[in-house]
Amino acid sequence: MVANRGEALWQARAACRGPQAEVFFPPSRVERKDERLLRERAAKGICRSCSVRPDCLEYALRIREPHGIWGGLNEAERKQVLERPGQLAQPRFA
Ligand code: SF4
Repeated sequence: MVANRGEALWQARAACRGPQAEVFFPPSRVERKDERLLRERAAKGICRSCSVRPDCLEYALRIREPHGIWGGLNEAERKQVLERPGQLAQPRFA
């Protein structure tokens, strides 16, 4: 995917850049529920301290990104936001 200039600016400051990025998406093998919860918790922990989280979440919602953790929300949480636009879901970081 090619990011436009505005997207490139916030993506360059993303806390998930680098090797830790792998926890933001499911592995290519089958992932058990407990593994998924641990992986998502690790990813959301990185999102919690990310300075560009609002930009990231807005982007993922706008393009209806179907996979991974973006802006501290997983796929199901972003779907909830899109279905109820007046109620912005708060990331569950615990
Ligand atoms: S909010 Fe999370 S997914 Fe988005 S750029 Fe920051 S660390 Fe990455």
